[in-house]
Amino acid sequence: MQNISNYDFAGKKAIVRVDFNVPLDGDFKITDDTRIRAAIPTLKKVLEKGGSLIIMSHLGRPKGPADKFSLKHIIYRVEELLGAKLQFCEDCMKADAQAAALKPGEVLLLENLRFYAEEEGKPRGLAEDATDEMKKAAKAEVKEKQKDFVKKLASYADCYINDAFGTAHRAHASTALIAKYFPNDKMFGYVMEGEIKAIDTVLGSPERPLTAILGGSKVSSKIGIIEHLLGLVDNMIIGGGMVYTFAKAKGGKIGNSLCEDDQIQLALDIMKKAEEKCVKLYFSDEVVAADAFDNNANTMLCRATEIPDGWEGVDAAPASVEIFKDVLMKSKTILWNGPVGVFEMPNFAKGTNAIAGILKEATEKGAFTLVGGGDSVAAVTQMGYADKVSYVSTGGGAMLEYLEGIELPGIKAIRE
Ligand code: AMP
Repeated sequence: MQNISNYDFAGKKAIVRVDFNVPLDGDFKITDDTRIRAAIPTLKKVLEKGGSLIIMSHLGRPKGPADKFSLKHIIYRVEELLGAKLQFCEDCMKADAQAAALKPGEVLLLENLRFYAEEEGKPRGLAEDATDEMKKAAKAEVKEKQKDFVKKLASYADCYINDAFGTAHRAHASTALIAKYFPNDKMFGYVMEGEIKAIDTVLGSPERPLTAILGGSKVSSKIGIIEHLLGLVDNMIIGGGMVYTFAKAKGGKIGNSLCEDDQIQLALDIMKKAEEKCVKLYFSDEVVAADAFDNNANTMLCRATEIPDGWEGVDAAPASVEIFKDVLMKSKTILWNGPVGVFEMPNFAKGTNAIAGILKEATEKGAFTLVGGGDSVAAVTQMGYADKVSYVSTGGGAMLEYLEGIELPGIKAIRE
């Protein structure tokens, strides 16, 4: 398959979709440049091979053009990291002349694609009382305009690279639709390649035992992943707020713990399905309970099924973590998504931080470990283990959908 290592970029213009959606402070200074740094190897490779770059991205969620969301704020950092000067086009639909004049080694950054509704293909500014018919008409209108938008972007370049894994689950103009204009000249960038390889290592033919450790607040938001993974893993560890819906389903007392009463039947079905598939399910049976949802609340250790009234489960207790450790250290492949406690409160982050440490140890022992999702990534990063696990995924929503077995539009568009 075509890729940036085997493609001949000499004298060619590459339009590259990156994820420069970085957090900015009140003075428009970048507070975390991870995403920019991630895109640099792909950008450098094109320049090294004699190509020129047209870089496109979104930043934030603008409803139209707005200085606050301008990509001009991040130019300084891209220039520092790339070691090249950037030209900037303030309107991504008016870059014809600048793109045409690009010489090998030169770089043009287009303004935030989401200044145009056409990027996402969703109508904007609809009145609150708009009827279904009006909504349908507005959608049809923006979809029609989107065709010209995509065509214009494609007209700037000779080849297309998608390196924005964070938006690969969206069928947007720049992430998927544009690919059809480059049937023989489209490819993934290194970020996308790395993400796909890491997830496929887990979902494809992993070394076994394969263990998934899933945390987070709600069963309902993880159900797609749980169901898909039940057909693949040997062990599944469930932690975090999800535990109490299962505990209640088992007939336990859960006090004030987080619970989705409408998911209790589903919890029972999951447990049955795990048994049928011979997947070993582990829950944080021993938990830290607190008498308020507060970092300074009184705490005690108890069983997840025996939480007194007025108390709520907030973290996996050390005894649970020990059991998890035993399973994880025997695993050859591990996937971790979601915290096993209320990670935002330092007193209840201990279980989650301990898991980060166990993954580091398991990696040292030779396991392939993949970490994804905001809080789990934050935990390994804060503990200083981001480079001590096998792979840290950059795409929250995209990774979750991939793990559910959904073919991501951004991936499909390059492959088909
Ligand atoms: P998610 O976005 O579904 O991955 O869930 C992450 C959230 O789950 C974090 O904000 C955690 O604070 C929350 N969480 C984890 N464990 C618990 C718990 N025992 N009770 C309430 N919230 C929790």
